[in-house]
Amino acid sequence: MAHLEGTDAAAIGVDLGGTKVAAVLLSADGACVADAEIPTAAARGVDAVASDIFGLVADLGRLAAARGLEVQGVGLVSAGIVDPERGVLVAVTDTLAGLAGWHAGEQLASGTGLAVKVLNDVQGMALAEQRLGAGVGAACALYVAAGTGIGGALTRDGALVLGAHGFAGDLGHIVVDLEPGAPRCACGRVGHLEAYASGPAIAAAYAAATGGRPGQDLRIVAERAAAGETPARGVLASAARVFGRGVGGLVNVVDPDKVVFGGGMAALDPALFWDGVFAALNAEVRGPVRPELSLAALGTRAAAVGAALVGLEAGGHPVAGATRQREGYDPGARPAEPAPPEHRERATR
Ligand SMILES: [Zn+2]
Repeated sequence: MAHLEGTDAAAIGVDLGGTKVAAVLLSADGACVADAEIPTAAARGVDAVASDIFGLVADLGRLAAARGLEVQGVGLVSAGIVDPERGVLVAVTDTLAGLAGWHAGEQLASGTGLAVKVLNDVQGMALAEQRLGAGVGAACALYVAAGTGIGGALTRDGALVLGAHGFAGDLGHIVVDLEPGAPRCACGRVGHLEAYASGPAIAAAYAAATGGRPGQDLRIVAERAAAGETPARGVLASAARVFGRGVGGLVNVVDPDKVVFGGGMAALDPALFWDGVFAALNAEVRGPVRPELSLAALGTRAAAVGAALVGLEAGGHPVAGATRQREGYDPGARPAEPAPPEHRERATR
C-alpha cells in the first residue's frame, strides 16, 4: 500500500449509537489498528457519555503510542440530526434523548486536547465507503443506509456534500405515497420512504398481512421468507419495489455513478430483497447511463471508520484513499471480519 508522507499519523473515530459506543483507531493509510466498544450511558447524561468517550480515546491513544502512531484528531458520529459546523447534536433518536443539544465537539475537544469533528452517522458510513469501501473510485456516490430507519448521504470527488446546514441526504423522508391513509413515518409525517422500507416498517407490514402481532422483528420476516413463506416473501418484495423506485427517483435528481446500500438490512438475502430493489431502481432511471449498484463493504464498523477519517482531517492530516482506487486494504473481501491479529489489538475496558 502506498503510504503518504508522515503516515505515522492516526485518528480515533467514535460511533455514538443508541445501545453502544464503538471506537476505532485508524492510521492515516486507512488501516484499522484497534477497536473498542462500550455500552452507551445516555441515560446517565451528557457528562457520563463524554467521560466514557474520553476513556475510549485515552485507551486507543495508548495503543497508538505503543505502535508509534500519533493521534491527531477525533471524529464523532451520532444518529440523528447533527450540526457539523458547530459540533452539536441537534436532534437525536429516543435512545439518546438526553443528549439533544449537546455541544459534543466543544466538550470533546477540551477534554481530549485534540481537534474534533462531529457528523451524522450515515454521513460517516458514506465517507468510509467512499474512501475505503464500495464507493472507491466514484465521482459522485449516493449512499443509502437501511435498518431501523433509512438515511443517506452524498459524496462528490471523495468528499461529503453536506448541504447548507449539514443535513443533506436524509432520504428516508422523501414522499413515496400521497394517499391520506399512507403509513405514518417515525418522523411523524405520512407516506415517507422510511415508513415503507425500514426494518420496522417491513415487520409491521408483515404483521398486518398475516394478522400477527405487531412489533415483530424484520429477522423473523427474513427467516420465513427464506423458508418460502408467501406473505413474508410478498412484503419483502413489495418493500423492495417502493425502496428501489424511491431511490431511483433520487438517482434521476443526483446522477451518481455509484449507489451503495448499507446499514443492517444490507445483510438481507439479495434474492429476497436487494435484487428487487436494484431492478425497481434501474427501471426508474431515465438517464442513458445507469449507476453501479452495490452493497456496502465495510460492515458495522463503517460509521466509526468514517468518524476517524474526519478526525484525521480535523487534525489537519491529508487522508489516504480520497481519490485512489482500492489497493492493499480490501475490506470488501471480508466485510465482517476483523483485521489480522498482528495488525490489531483490542482495547479492553
Ligand atoms: Zn419521515
